[in-house]
Amino acid sequence: MGNQITPHFNVDEFTCKCGCRTNNITRPLVEKLEKVYEYLNATSRGVQGIYITSGYRCPRHSVAVGGSADDAHTRGIAADFFALDSAGTRYESRILAAVCEYVGFSGIGVIDKTAVHADIRNASNYKNAHWFGNEMTGNDNIETWREFLPAIAANVPHETNSKTRIKILVDDKTIYESEV
Ligand SMILES: [Zn+2]
Ligand SMILES: [Zn+2]
Repeated sequence: MGNQITPHFNVDEFTCKCGCRTNNITRPLVEKLEKVYEYLNATSRGVQGIYITSGYRCPRHSVAVGGSADDAHTRGIAADFFALDSAGTRYESRILAAVCEYVGFSGIGVIDKTAVHADIRNASNYKNAHWFGNEMTGNDNIETWREFLPAIAANVPHETNSKTRIKILVDDKTIYESEV
């Protein structure tokens, strides 16, 4: 296993999925994902885990999966993910998008019913500094998901669970998971 970057994310979770083993993920991206975790953890539904389905992509793999050779994934500033609540149910993508917006991601895309793309693009690291879109409808001009932001539960301690979670994902399915 590689290094733990933040309490709930390990560098290995962001390695390119094509088998090339490259990984140029950036820390500010992972720190923002940790904030998404903390937010979900403070809601009444809680969070069991955030599952990175795609983090860093080498340019070749990016093109192979329909992206471009210089998009946000190839720059290490993007991740696609879904999240399970404490009952093991997947959060809806528009809820995740709302939390991503709340914690300050500048590039957010709803990929499907439960998966989102989030990136930390800005004018110096990318061609445009802002994009909120819905890949299901092709709408590239979403103003906000604010209305879907879940409330922070008053009775839930707003703190990060510092346990290290080990997860192994194969084809988007968890094959091994434990806390140490
Ligand atoms: Zn690769
Ligand atoms: Zn993406």
